Amino acid sequence: MRIKKGIPVSPGIAQAPAFLIDTEEFAISRQRVAKSAIPAQIDRFKEAKEKASEEIRALIEVVEKEVGSEGVAILQMHLVLLADPDFHADVEKWIREGPHNAEYAVSRATRTVLKRFLSSKSFISHRGSDIRDMEHRLLRNLLGSQKQQLADLESEVVIIARDLTPSLTASFDRTRVRGIAIDLGGKTSHTAIIARALGIPAVVGLQDVTVDVSGGDMVIVDGTGGKVIIEPSAPTQEGYREREKRYIEFEQRIEFEQKDLPAETLDGHKIGLSANIELVEEIETAAMYGAEGIGLYRTEFLFLDGVEPEERLQIDTYRKAVQALGGGDVTIRTLDLGADKLTPDGMHSREKNPFLGCRSIRLCFEHMDLFKTQLRSILQAAVHGPIRIMFPMISAVEEVRQAKLILEDVCEDLQRENVTFQADVPLGIMIEVPSAALIPDILAEEVDFFSIGTNDLIQYTLAVDRTNERVANLYQPAHPANFRLLREVIKAGERHGIEVSMCGEMASEIEYVIPLIGLGLREFSLVPTMIPDIKKVIRSVTLRYCQEVTEKVMESPDAGRTEIYLREVARPFRPELVWGNSKFEKKPLT
Ligand code: PEP
Ligand code: MG
Repeated sequence: MRIKKGIPVSPGIAQAPAFLIDTEEFAISRQRVAKSAIPAQIDRFKEAKEKASEEIRALIEVVEKEVGSEGVAILQMHLVLLADPDFHADVEKWIREGPHNAEYAVSRATRTVLKRFLSSKSFISHRGSDIRDMEHRLLRNLLGSQKQQLADLESEVVIIARDLTPSLTASFDRTRVRGIAIDLGGKTSHTAIIARALGIPAVVGLQDVTVDVSGGDMVIVDGTGGKVIIEPSAPTQEGYREREKRYIEFEQRIEFEQKDLPAETLDGHKIGLSANIELVEEIETAAMYGAEGIGLYRTEFLFLDGVEPEERLQIDTYRKAVQALGGGDVTIRTLDLGADKLTPDGMHSREKNPFLGCRSIRLCFEHMDLFKTQLRSILQAAVHGPIRIMFPMISAVEEVRQAKLILEDVCEDLQRENVTFQADVPLGIMIEVPSAALIPDILAEEVDFFSIGTNDLIQYTLAVDRTNERVANLYQPAHPANFRLLREVIKAGERHGIEVSMCGEMASEIEYVIPLIGLGLREFSLVPTMIPDIKKVIRSVTLRYCQEVTEKVMESPDAGRTEIYLREVARPFRPELVWGNSKFEKKPLT
């Protein structure tokens, strides 16, 4: 049994055999075979090895002809790795000790070599990718046409991967994928957001879980505590089954208790609770958890297949969204593609700093047809119910004006074409770039509402990549710079009489509800499953108490102490969910 610590990003507990996703996305299953099948499994391995070596020799010939002998060094190294007698002996050992299928034995033995290489201080520690390459070649030959693809999983699994794209995560069959554990990523990476939206327990930033786990190993993902337990002992499995049961009961109870209660403080201040969604199918769940509206619809997930959706499809999708909700506002965010989110093929070239590059509204301005098609679709769907439009990644007032001009153009086109549409749609912007958060007065003149995107706002303010686990400890919502920016935006909204909402993940975190209300925030848009928990906190406090907490937070010079203080403030409301992995062990504020 081995335990690994990572960053908890989606609460809950899952236990199932590992499904190791490599770049080719196929499964290695752990099968027990009969003793009598051992020689056959060893022969399968030898054949796969022979084929892999032949493939490499053929490649060497081609490369030598085209590039010369210096180009073949890496391929020769692959041949050496394949011929290594220790590796061969290890595979045989894993086949005999089970007895196991050859695929599992190859995966296990590769992990031993990988570990040896990665812990080496010499230059060969960089050769991890070559070992993985060798493993893929062997597995491809072993599995042939029987590769079990993610798309047609036959049993429950825990996904283990180096990294996952948000689109792949969104395509997971949640009845089969019970948990997720990945090497890379941070709390607000889009993969984490999707895992949370799907209610799949997940831990990210584990650094080398792919080196420790082989496909088919039993794995527990503790998405609340941020732990992954590999090959747990029987009592540990039993203990976690019990915790899983308790967690589910708790979830159901709180959901049931809170569902129809109003979201208001003890002294009667009403707080709006809407949901963030990625797919229209989530609306039903959002309504079940008590969402009054959709505060953020991340429409870029319509691009799941990397194909641009046609106007008709978009109109139907947005119409379904308003109809499914049956009354509340649906805030449709225009395409926020790029950075860690999928981008349709050929839409933009590789960039050195994609988070600072041509993403989001900038990409839309470059691809006017794409942008206009989306705006046309939204305006036509708005005939069927209350829709609001929100532009992402605004960094200057000119961008808002440009977006509004394009919207006017679109209205004129629709009018000319005699198409039925709703011209009078509330317009808002995301405040998620520090330059926007510093000029809320200017921006408030242009729009009907703001929605604060703390996921990006924090990353840009603190210069911390939200997807990079190596700097995850520096990604601090409690940083005084963040709180000061939030205060300015909320106050500017009050002064100008426009709604300010928050749709970043900070709005879904128990420990920040109280200080945010204290700052004046009255609209939250959050992960649907968190609505009952957040509502419970709101219903347990007075506005005065929230303001007192906020005063202390605003006086605090350092994020670590504020974080500890806010966790203590929130603990009585939901002990299971106040995630505890701060690296700042300082005294709490009093
Ligand atoms: C944000 O940045 O806070 C936000 C809600 O948008 P996204 O997470 O999709 O970038
Ligand atoms: Mg954002």
